[in-house]
Amino acid sequence: MPMFVGVSFPIFSYKVFTYSIPEELKKNMAIGIRVNASLGNRNLTGIIVQLNPRNSYKGAVKQIQSIVDSEPVLDEPLWKLIVWMSKYYFTPLGNVAKTVLPSRLSAQYNPPSNWFASVIENADIKNMDKVSTVAPIQFKILKKLSECKEFIQVATLKNLASNPLGVCRLLEEKGLIILEKKPIYPDVTRLSFNSIPKKIFFTEEQEKVLHNLSLELKNKSFTAHLLHGVTGSGKTEIYVEISKKVIQLNQTVIILLPEILITPQIAGRFKAEFGETVALWHSKLTPPVRSWTWKRICLGKIKVVIGARSAVFAPIKNLGLIVVDEEQESSYKQEYPAPKYHAKEVALMRGRLHKAMVIMASATPSLESYYNQIKGKFTYHTLLNRYGGAKYPQVFVVDMKIEQEESGKFGQIFSGLLLEKIENRLQKSEQIILIQNRRGYAPVFRCNDCGEMEMCIRCHITLTYHKVGNSLHCHYCGFRKKAIELQCKKCSGYNLGFLGIGTQKVEDSIKESFPNAKLARCDFDTVRSFESVTKVLEKFRLGKLDILIGTQMIAKGLDFENVTLVGIINADTGLHIPDFRAGERVFQLIYQASGRSGRHKKPGEVVIQTYNSDNPVIKNGTKLNLKKYYNIALYERQELNYPPFSWITKLVCSGIKKSTVQREIENVYSELNGKFRGLAIIGPALCYREKLRDRYRFQIVFRSDKSKDQNGRKLHRFLDLNFGMEKNKMNRSGVKLSLDVNPVSLQ
Ligand code: ADP
Ligand code: ZN
Repeated sequence: MPMFVGVSFPIFSYKVFTYSIPEELKKNMAIGIRVNASLGNRNLTGIIVQLNPRNSYKGAVKQIQSIVDSEPVLDEPLWKLIVWMSKYYFTPLGNVAKTVLPSRLSAQYNPPSNWFASVIENADIKNMDKVSTVAPIQFKILKKLSECKEFIQVATLKNLASNPLGVCRLLEEKGLIILEKKPIYPDVTRLSFNSIPKKIFFTEEQEKVLHNLSLELKNKSFTAHLLHGVTGSGKTEIYVEISKKVIQLNQTVIILLPEILITPQIAGRFKAEFGETVALWHSKLTPPVRSWTWKRICLGKIKVVIGARSAVFAPIKNLGLIVVDEEQESSYKQEYPAPKYHAKEVALMRGRLHKAMVIMASATPSLESYYNQIKGKFTYHTLLNRYGGAKYPQVFVVDMKIEQEESGKFGQIFSGLLLEKIENRLQKSEQIILIQNRRGYAPVFRCNDCGEMEMCIRCHITLTYHKVGNSLHCHYCGFRKKAIELQCKKCSGYNLGFLGIGTQKVEDSIKESFPNAKLARCDFDTVRSFESVTKVLEKFRLGKLDILIGTQMIAKGLDFENVTLVGIINADTGLHIPDFRAGERVFQLIYQASGRSGRHKKPGEVVIQTYNSDNPVIKNGTKLNLKKYYNIALYERQELNYPPFSWITKLVCSGIKKSTVQREIENVYSELNGKFRGLAIIGPALCYREKLRDRYRFQIVFRSDKSKDQNGRKLHRFLDLNFGMEKNKMNRSGVKLSLDVNPVSLQ
C-alpha cells in the first residue's frame, strides 16, 4: 500500500504536491481518485496523479484530509485522456482533471430524502372519528391520506397544516399512518424532451452508409469517419441506427451536439429507440438532475449520452462510438478557461484510447475535415439527397445596394421580395424562420457628428443597445449600463444614433409590418432557461407560432415540417472580421440556414439579403455550391499557409499596463525568433480585441508548415520547452501568458 501520494490541484502550476495518507484511507488510494487537502492556507480538491512519488520536499509532509471518490470514476482510457490533454494543451493536470470531473459531481451522490406518509391498511375508522372532534387538523390530513392509497410527500400537505410533519408524527404515534423517509429522484423522464417515435425505411443511399460503417464496427478498433450529408438527408437516423449496432455489441455511445437547442429533438429520437438508457448532458441541467445523471452514468445505467461540448468527457464505460454532429461548429472549442480544448480533437483522441469509432458529421464540414478526407485520414461517406424526395429550396438573392437605390430608402431591414414572401406564407399558414446573426437591438451606439462610439469601459468592444431594459451591453464581459446619454462625450453633439441590426430590431419591424403574426425570438438573451426555449420550439413545431427569429442558434439541426421560407436578413454579418476562417463561417451559416426550408413535402424558398453580392463567399453560398467554394477556400488557405496547411498556436500576453505587456511579448519574440527552420513567428501585434476585462492583450502566432509531417510535433516540443512543464513561465512580471493550440480564430 502506498505511503505517499502525489496530488495535482486546479491551480496554475504544473507542480505535483506530496501528501501522506491517513491509515483508514490507505486502501482507497489509486490514481484518478479525488482528494481534499490543504495547500498553503487553502483547502482544495485535487486529484491523485502519482503513488509513492519520490519525495524531494524537505518540509513536513501534510496529510490528505478526505476523499471525494471511494473508487476511481475514471477508467484507464479517460485517465490517459486527461494526461494527453494536459500535455497537448499545455495545461496543468489539476486544471484538466477539474474540467473532466466537475468538482461538485461524485458517484456517491444521493438524491435528497424527504418524508412521505401513507395511511396504514385497515386503519381503525372509529379511531379516525375520534380524531376528528379533538384534533381537526390531524383529521384533515388523515382524510387526505386515506383518499389516496399511495405515499404522499409530507411537504405537499402544507396547505392543510403549518407543520405537516409534526402532525404526521402524532398520527404515527396513534398507529394510524406510516411515516417514511425516502429519496426524491430527480425526474429524469421529464427532462424536457419527449420521445419521438418514427417508422424508418432506409433509402439505398442511407443503407450503403450504414453498411460501410457497420463493417468497420466489427474490428473494435479506432476508426475515423466523415459523414457528409446534405441538410435533411437523415443523418440523425444514421446516428440512431449505428448506435443500435454499437449497443448490441455491449458498448456505449456519446453524441455531441453544438447547440443545446438541438438536443431535445435528437434526444427525442434516441429516447424512442433506447428509452431510459439515454441521458442528456449540458450546462443548463439543474444541479440535482446533473448529479443524478452523472451517478447513473457512473453506475453504467446509461448507454447513450447526448450533449454539448463537455459530454465528450462523460465517464461512460465501454465506449464504442462518438458522433460529432455539425462538426464545423466553433462552439466545440473551449476558449476560456484553460484547457482550451476542442471537443473534436478530444473526441478523436478518446476514440483512439477506447478503440472506438468516431464520426464527424455535417452538411458543411470544416475545411480541415474536408481536407482530412481528401488526404485519407477520415473515411468519407456521403448522403447526396434529401430524404423522402424533398427538394432543395429555391434561393433568391437580394442585392440590398440595388434595392436601396431603387427604393430610395436607406438602411431598411427587409427587401420588398422578403416582405412579399412573408405575407404569402402567413396567408398560406406556412412557417417562416428569419435569421440575423446579431442579438440585441443595434450593435453600435454612435455619435453621427464625430463618429465616437460607446465602448465597454473594460473591453475594447462597442456596446450593443438592448431595447429590453433600455440598456447598453458588452457582449463579451456582460457589463451593462442604462442608455441615458443624450449628448456625445467627445464633441458634445446631440446627434446620437444606432447603427446596425440586431434580432430585437428585426422582431420590432416584423411586429410593425405584420401585427397579427405570432412570433418568437430565439437567441442567447431568450435562452437563459433551457425549459423556456424548448417550449418555444415545441410551440413552433405545433404551428402555434408563425415566425421564429433568431441568431445562428436556429440555423442548424432543427427540423420543422411546415417551414417553407427562410430569410437571412444580412448574410454579410461576420464577413469582414479579420480572421482566416471568417469566409468559411459565413458560407456555412448561409448553407445551414437555407437547409431549414422545405425539408419535407412542401417545397421551400430562401431569401438572402446582402450588400456584397459579388463576394465569392456570398456568391457560392447563395448557390449552395459547396464543392466550388471549398476548393476556392482550400486554395486560399494553401497560398497563405493557414490550416489545414500548417499548424498554428496562438500566444496571448495580457496585463493591466499596456506598456508592460508590450515589453514582455517583445521579449518573448526576441527570445524565440529564428529558433528553428520551418517555424514562422507572426507578430507581436495587438489583439483584434485589444482590451478585455480590463486587460490589454498582445498576441504572437506560431506557425509551422506541414511540408514535413513531424513539423507539428516539432512545434509542440518547442513550445513545451519554452512554456511547458519545466519552464513554468506562464506569468512574467504580472503579465499572463496563455497558449491556445489550434485556435479557432486569430482575432
Ligand atoms: P439531417 O440531420 O441530415 O439534416 P434529419 O436526420 O433531420 O436530417 O432527417 C430529415 C427528416 O427526414 C427527419 O424528419 C427524419 O426523421 C426524416 N428521415 C430521414 N431518413 C428517414 C428514413 N429512412 N425513414 C423515415 N424518415 C426519415
Ligand atoms: Zn466588456
